[in-house]
Amino acid sequence: MPRNLLLIGGGHSHVEVIRRWGLAPEPGVSVTLVSPDRHTPYSGMLPGYIAGHYGFDECHIDLDAVCMQAGVTLIGSSAGEIDFSARVARCCQAPDQPFDILSIDTGSTPVLANLPGADRYGIAVKPVAQFLEHWAQLREAAQTAPRPLHVVVVGAGAAGVEVILAMKHRIDFDKGRAVFTLIGDGPAILGVHPRGVQQRFMTIVQDQQITVRLDTAVERVSAGTLLLRGGEKLAFDEVIWVTGAAAPAWPRTSGLQTDAAGFIAVDKHLQSLSHPGVFAAGDIASMMDAPRPKSGVYAVRQGPPLAENLRKALRGETLLEYRPQTRALALISAGDRYAVASYGPLALSGAWVWRWKNRIDTAFMQRYRAAG
Ligand SMILES: Cc1cc2nc3c(=O)[nH]c(=O)nc-3n(C[C@H](O)[C@H](O)[C@H](O)COP(=O)(O)OP(=O)(O)OC[C@H]3O[C@@H](n4cnc5c(N)ncnc54)[C@H](O)[C@@H]3O)c2cc1C
Repeated sequence: MPRNLLLIGGGHSHVEVIRRWGLAPEPGVSVTLVSPDRHTPYSGMLPGYIAGHYGFDECHIDLDAVCMQAGVTLIGSSAGEIDFSARVARCCQAPDQPFDILSIDTGSTPVLANLPGADRYGIAVKPVAQFLEHWAQLREAAQTAPRPLHVVVVGAGAAGVEVILAMKHRIDFDKGRAVFTLIGDGPAILGVHPRGVQQRFMTIVQDQQITVRLDTAVERVSAGTLLLRGGEKLAFDEVIWVTGAAAPAWPRTSGLQTDAAGFIAVDKHLQSLSHPGVFAAGDIASMMDAPRPKSGVYAVRQGPPLAENLRKALRGETLLEYRPQTRALALISAGDRYAVASYGPLALSGAWVWRWKNRIDTAFMQRYRAAG
């Protein structure tokens, strides 16, 4: 009787699971990936794609090719509820998918809760495919606009800063017309990074004539207007939400144990605390005894131990323990081919940091291209 390994979401951890499966398939196991996207964007290169440094194929993993190479069936759909009594995942655009062992790597989306109007006006940076479609339209609009468009990015963490600098770089290159505002609700941009990194980016955004609004909370959105805490109104033509990481409702409503924010609670084996045989990795997972920020670095690092433990679970063997690194190197790009390295208290910057980042990122992508 063949056994079913079901993978939901083609995120950074699962692409490595699939690649490794292709190198050593497990006899008698059929593997299925459920993914609404046929291309996984590699987050490290996304700002470079927005800025125009990379083409689509350079920074997207072709799931069709990777799955075909590994003998994995790709189902083009998103998954919703999990029915644990029937042991199936309900799919929105496909029949229910059965599983013996289940793994979830579906990422996160910007936090829009408590922001009335945010889902109607403006666009969230994730799902990435929708954002990129919108970005293409915005670039066009900036070229034909009779006056400069006012583009507002809400969220001044690393992703928000990278996105606004990348957009500014590209629109300038296109000779488009736009002015930019970056809004953060804390006292500094890049709040979790050392002061040296914050200061370097403050200088860069100011040199780019980007207006920065700190300690500024958006309370409500209507057509063309942000209502800020304190009552101020800010007019915009485009607003982009890059506001942290939120979880979908379906893991919790399916009965999986989650943390307070709705992310799937997993142990040191990346296995659900409530459901043995169910695994999760990347942003959607919360390692309850070793919490880490939601970042692609951790999702990538979880790929190999997840692959190993899925195999062990299928064989009924003892699972491996995984301990994530305590610190991660962040290489944050600044629109032009320039980047800042942030590691613990350290800050280093220059065109050489961008070249270093580019080497790491292209080597990462090469792994999946070679499989294609
Ligand atoms: C602009 C930007 C730049 C960033 N830069 C960096 C960086 O340089 N370094 C870094 O470490 N992190 C970076 N991040 C953070 C990084 O994007 C995330 O931490 C990372 O993508 C998480 O990977 P993941 O595997 O959890 O999910 P993802 O890579 O988000 O993949 C999840 C996949 O699951 C699919 N999916 C979603 N819902 C379902 C469903 N219901 N059913 C089936 N499939 C589903 C999605 O379509 C998606 O393809 C950046 C984020 C942004 C927005």
